[in-house]
Amino acid sequence: MKIIMLGAPGAGKGTQAKKIAAKYDIPHISTGDIFRANIKNGTDLGKKAKTYMDQGLLVPDELVVDLVVDRVAQDDCAGGYVLDGFPRTIPQAEALDKALAALGQKVDYAIDVEVPDENIISRMGGRRACVGCGATYHMEYAAPKAEGICDTCGKELILRDDDKPETVGKRLDVYHEQTQPLIDYYASAGILKEVDGTADINDVFQTITEILGA
Ligand code: ADP
Ligand code: AMP
Repeated sequence: MKIIMLGAPGAGKGTQAKKIAAKYDIPHISTGDIFRANIKNGTDLGKKAKTYMDQGLLVPDELVVDLVVDRVAQDDCAGGYVLDGFPRTIPQAEALDKALAALGQKVDYAIDVEVPDENIISRMGGRRACVGCGATYHMEYAAPKAEGICDTCGKELILRDDDKPETVGKRLDVYHEQTQPLIDYYASAGILKEVDGTADINDVFQTITEILGA
């Protein structure tokens, strides 16, 4: 089962992708997480990506496409995977389709988690990320057991720089301009599934499992 998560930044792609990965025992591949790990480790890729991420812009296609194409060709992806945050542009989607076709594969589902812009602003303002393991929480909707501390690894929870209000507006503009066209792209391919992302986290997941047929 090869799944793509679509939706605005903060729509809940990562939250749902983690739950899908756990239930169906497939890898969760988040390009945002891959870039953040590279930034933390001080790699060249991380340094390049950071300059774009800090401004709320997309990292150029050439820095992300090969990375994902290599990742989905690895053995642990043979039984499927859930891609979170990729593709984000039409050229990325076309490159993925081309690479999969060369392997005799295709994407099975593109799940669009729909949340209006006005809800996104409060989602992002309340999101907290762990500086240690990258786990995400929401101060109101998915709170950690102890305030400011990660349930999983005990490290500090912070507001990501790119979740600050001044950057969120830019990220939403970029989403509408460069990523939203993917909805038509996958609708034309006949694999688009739209879910109401304003529902409770578990209700959204229930809808997704009904779509995935289990
Ligand atoms: P994305 O991966 O699309 O950027 P996340 O999954 O990180 O978004 O979710 C953004 C924030 O909203 C997080 O703080 C998360 O805990 C919270 N969140 C996710 N889904 C829901 C939901 N259905 N209702 C309320 N809050 C949610
Ligand atoms: P995310 O964690 O998915 O919200 O991603 C955080 C940031 O990483 C984005 O705002 C982009 O700057 C960058 N990024 C992640 N995935 C991609 C992608 N597929 N293409 C371009 N930039 C990306």
